[in-house]
Amino acid sequence: MTLREFYIALFVGKNCQPTTSHLPLKMNKDKYITKLKKLSYPKLVKRAWKVWSEKRRKETADHRGYVACITCGVVKHWKELQAGHFRHNHLDFHIKNINPQCVHCNKFLHGNLGNYAIWLDKTYGFGTAESLKLMASKEKDRPCSKDELIQIIFNN
Ligand SMILES: [Zn+2]
Repeated sequence: MTLREFYIALFVGKNCQPTTSHLPLKMNKDKYITKLKKLSYPKLVKRAWKVWSEKRRKETADHRGYVACITCGVVKHWKELQAGHFRHNHLDFHIKNINPQCVHCNKFLHGNLGNYAIWLDKTYGFGTAESLKLMASKEKDRPCSKDELIQIIFNN
């Protein structure tokens, strides 16, 4: 499976039902997609990241919105946490590479990567951290097409 196919499988999976929650008021979906398509690639990435990062922080939150940092366990409101990378500047939209982390772990401990690797292997199985490293090293410059980015905005 190529990385591109992996992303497609990830986002067009049957568990991802398109929503219109990010649709600006008074704008229909087709108009919004046309508007998104006109954005430059970096702007579209930024828009998709905002949606994705919020989803990854909210996903494991309790009913009050509180979630634990995966690398130190501190519990905070999802708005106070960050979506931390295991491999920085890579795999921005890979579900295993982006997880909720506190500012201390993500910024000051540069991702607290030792604990991050342990958490990945515990959560997804032994060897996950190594396979993410390998995947990141093979990632192309623009792994997601504009259409895939638009899918991310609509499916999350
Ligand atoms: Zn932490």
